[in-house]
Amino acid sequence: AVPTSLMVGMGRGAQAGVLIKSGEALQAAEGVRAVVFDKTGTLTRGRPEVSRLSPARGISDDELLALAASAEVGSEHPLAAAVVRAARDKGLALAQAEDFLSLPGRGVTARVNGREVAVGNDEFVRERISGDQDAGFDEAAADEIAATGGTPVHVAVDGQAAGIIGVSDVLKDEAPAVVRELSRMGLSVVMLTGDATATAQAVARQAGISRVTARVLPERKAQEVQTLQAEGLSVAMIGDGVNDAPALAQADVGLAMGTGLDVAVEAGDIVLMRGELHGVVTALALSRAVMRNIR
Ligand code: ADP
Ligand code: MG
Repeated sequence: AVPTSLMVGMGRGAQAGVLIKSGEALQAAEGVRAVVFDKTGTLTRGRPEVSRLSPARGISDDELLALAASAEVGSEHPLAAAVVRAARDKGLALAQAEDFLSLPGRGVTARVNGREVAVGNDEFVRERISGDQDAGFDEAAADEIAATGGTPVHVAVDGQAAGIIGVSDVLKDEAPAVVRELSRMGLSVVMLTGDATATAQAVARQAGISRVTARVLPERKAQEVQTLQAEGLSVAMIGDGVNDAPALAQADVGLAMGTGLDVAVEAGDIVLMRGELHGVVTALALSRAVMRNIR
């Protein structure tokens, strides 16, 4: 049976929108020394919007957007959703894509109107460009997008650069205050993301996080948690995506965004029902208070 004080703690959590699934989770939260945040959908609102179009020479804004959106329709990624929404908002006709292929943490490829389209991160798309890999992309545009925390989505067509689509997500209002509070509690705060380094650093700066690990492939997120644990730190992981589920399970305490995908919610020991980041502070502080009370 769960001791009464733990039950009371779990009840108080529930009232604050923090669903603590077990007494063990509430107990384990007391020992946490490092708090690891996923970026997209966790620190940020997770509803990115297209903020800039930078087509390559000879390609129009609409052509760039329509090609990319046609290839992205089959993807569940929030970046893909932003590209498709922007195209639909502009009233652009999307073509039927064939041979759609999604590579988690990298991008997608598809055949659109008989042309090979690749959409994704810098490295992934450049690998699909023939000849001079530097030709065609506006590097200054990519740097500007990343410097403000946006993601430069690269697009190639038939082995040629087609352009860059800037997609930007907004930091959750409460993120800086939550990071400050966690630091005050003596915890190390870390951000983990599959996004590019420059983008990750810009968002981390806005949130007040100094330790960032970027370009983490989905299958490596759990390993990054393990690395921290090997440093002797008990780790709380906060995430919302399919990519985050193994890391949530690996962490000493996994906190899932209630607004996230079912796989993440299932993998979490604690669920932040409203997707509100203050719940992290609530859970960790509640655990400390309850455990102090028990002793
Ligand atoms: P995060 O950890 O921020 O949720 P992911 O691991 O899902 O990011 O993806 C890492 C990076 O790969 C993205 O920042 C993006 O550059 C690229 N990427 C992945 N999937 C897509 C997609 N469907 N369309 C465009 N870019 C993508
Ligand atoms: Mg995420």
